[in-house]
Amino acid sequence: MFEELNDLYQQVIMDHSRKPHNFGILAGANCCARGKNPLCGDQIQIFLSTEDHVVKDLRWEGDGCAIFKASSSLMTDAIKGKTTAEVKVLFEEFHSLITTGKMSEDHHLGKLAVLSGVNRFPARVKCALLGWRAAMSALEGNPQSVTTE
Ligand code: ZN
Repeated sequence: MFEELNDLYQQVIMDHSRKPHNFGILAGANCCARGKNPLCGDQIQIFLSTEDHVVKDLRWEGDGCAIFKASSSLMTDAIKGKTTAEVKVLFEEFHSLITTGKMSEDHHLGKLAVLSGVNRFPARVKCALLGWRAAMSALEGNPQSVTTE
């Protein structure tokens, strides 16, 4: 299905989906949220520990397709240690990348850029964004379930 993505990108996505980073439950988390993507069946529960508007630590649990798992895993690596304001900028950059395939010249995406090819697969855009939506919801103190529908 993802044969159009180049091999390096495919490899990163497969590595993260098989062995997701920051996977599990975080004891003592002060922000959490759930999310689901009914179209694909992806589900996530995310736990964040924040202090002075900085994401000190986070974990996530869930199951779903490879793109969802890889994106959620990469997201947790990307936002750990960031301020909530930085996370918001990153989410906006990532959202633009996933929906349009475009990156600004001064973007902060780093490894997240491996998901740039997802914009060519409209059905997978929601999969790639689900973890981010759950994280943003948790950081905004909005613990109710988010859904991509
Ligand atoms: Zn999915």
